[in-house]
Amino acid sequence: MRFLPVFLDLQTGPVLLVGGGDLARAKLRLLAAAGARISWFATDGDYDLGGLDAASADRVEQMTGDPLTADLSGVIAVLCAGAGDVGVAMAARAKAAGLPVNVMDDLAHSTFIFPAIVDRGDVMVAVGTGGTSPVVARRVRERIEAILPARIGDLANFIGRWRRTVHDRIPEMSLRRRFWERVVDGRIGALVLSGRGSEAERALARIDDPSAFAAASGEAESGILGCVTLVGAGPGDPDLLTIKALRALQDADVVFYDELVSTEILDRARRDAKRIPVGRRAGKPGIGQDAVNRLLIEAAKSGQRAVRLKGGDPFVFGRGGEEVAALREAGIAYSIVPGITAALGAAAQFEVPLTFRREALRITFLTAHRAQDAEAVDWSALTDEKMTVVVYMGMTAAASVRAGLLAAGRSPQTPVGVFARVTLEDAQAAVGTLDELPDLVAQIDHGPAILIIGDVVAHSAPWSLQYLRPMISKLLEAAE
Ligand code: SAH
Repeated sequence: MRFLPVFLDLQTGPVLLVGGGDLARAKLRLLAAAGARISWFATDGDYDLGGLDAASADRVEQMTGDPLTADLSGVIAVLCAGAGDVGVAMAARAKAAGLPVNVMDDLAHSTFIFPAIVDRGDVMVAVGTGGTSPVVARRVRERIEAILPARIGDLANFIGRWRRTVHDRIPEMSLRRRFWERVVDGRIGALVLSGRGSEAERALARIDDPSAFAAASGEAESGILGCVTLVGAGPGDPDLLTIKALRALQDADVVFYDELVSTEILDRARRDAKRIPVGRRAGKPGIGQDAVNRLLIEAAKSGQRAVRLKGGDPFVFGRGGEEVAALREAGIAYSIVPGITAALGAAAQFEVPLTFRREALRITFLTAHRAQDAEAVDWSALTDEKMTVVVYMGMTAAASVRAGLLAAGRSPQTPVGVFARVTLEDAQAAVGTLDELPDLVAQIDHGPAILIIGDVVAHSAPWSLQYLRPMISKLLEAAE
């Protein structure tokens, strides 16, 4: 590590900014937003503040004269941005005066560098890459932004306000730490994070004996804490997890996951969370829904935060309904985080507009796992040509799906697509007509795959590749 992250107190004096143009103005904005006082030498003489608000503008002092001979007393740091050679000379001066200095994009002349910042009030995260790659730092920051609860700063502030009082009432340091851990991890922390600050204040004020609260065993409160979150993991690409899904994974003590959930997604769970597979493995029956329900209930009853992680969305052919019923009956606290269902993943990736002006006005999601399921489908309800039909688990029943739709009067020329492993790196598509459906399925290496049937498939990217390109080249040939 070359650069140690430290936090500079901006209340103690002005920051000296040397430079001009957009680069200097960007730093001006950053410093002003942080509440700094800024003494600015605009090396190009242009002191336009670039639309800074009035309060911030008041804290900017426009300096005249030569920054290389200016009085540095009281200055807490020196910043050069868009200052050219003056920046290098200024850095030498700052170093001689013992002041930290940053010359933008010039590691050799800087004694400190700017991190990427996540700013949540009292909670501040600085991300550095030793000056090597601001882009990587920004990506890391985005990830942190995504998992940090929006009100984490409020939580820090809340604790800050109570700290003195609790300090006076719990003399022993380790017990004090335990007290705050229980507050942060428990109901009071959850209240603050959900924006119910005054309830949290009251709950904390009601703790008569803070030492006893701190010393109570974990299980004492666990009955309240245990819960189950049904989380939709989306179709495969981990970047399609919602921010809520990520947070639930980061908070989990245990994750019960389906076979459809990829390792990349599981890797987003808290590192020490237990991971328990409960899905049907290829060929094997899996542990059964009742057993899954029991595992969820037991985990919550033992005080754990359990995540039930499912491919796509929990409520689209995901057995979420059964699990919720079981949790309700057992009186377990639960919540549901929706996910991007496979149909929407396929639609986005392969550019299948599931609805289309005048052409497709309805969508039906159905499942036809085996031929017998397909027989149970009322195909006559699917005759409407303006309806896009999406079939989940339909690979093995492709022939029955075709038979059903043809019997319902759908044209054998209806465009269809088979979309496999959508949003994953090895995603695959086969498009053609309803008549060809079983052959299209045979072109797919392996599932999972969904079938999309309807005129809209003719708007998809693979369709235009398959049909339009050859058509265009034929036309071009004919023209030659
Ligand atoms: N709850 C899931 C569906 C579970 S049923 C969701 O909302 O997506 C399992 C079926 O979903 C598979 O047989 C397949 O038809 C479809 N499926 C799931 N993930 C898929 C993927 N990445 N690509 C294509 N189809 C997928």
